[in-house]
Amino acid sequence: MSVLTHARPTSRTTTYDQLTPFRQTLFDTAIADALDAAEAANATDYNRAMQRAAHAAGLTIPTGGEVTKCACTGCYCTAIFDTAAPGLRVIETTDYGLALHQCADCADDHPTPVED
Ligand SMILES: [Zn+2]
Ligand SMILES: [Zn+2]
Repeated sequence: MSVLTHARPTSRTTTYDQLTPFRQTLFDTAIADALDAAEAANATDYNRAMQRAAHAAGLTIPTGGEVTKCACTGCYCTAIFDTAAPGLRVIETTDYGLALHQCADCADDHPTPVED
């Protein structure tokens, strides 16, 4: 008999706080490079930078995949996750088509933006 849980696949999520300072720097640099590449509409560089970011965070993403840090405005969450993971919520999509995401926990607890 299966039991329903809210557990997420651990390979798809980590937290920034758990990374060593060295890996945090690698992650930040890779994400910054990804944003630059997105701005320049350079998909090859973008995908490469995303792979570096995932690697820095100890995550595995498919080619063309993306990782991001939780952009929740409702708490100080530092979750890092594959944007293809289930249960995420898109907070907003930026000019270059990059979406800001809430992690699954935040999306559950305090979805943003709040619909009024
Ligand atoms: Zn979060
Ligand atoms: Zn949150």
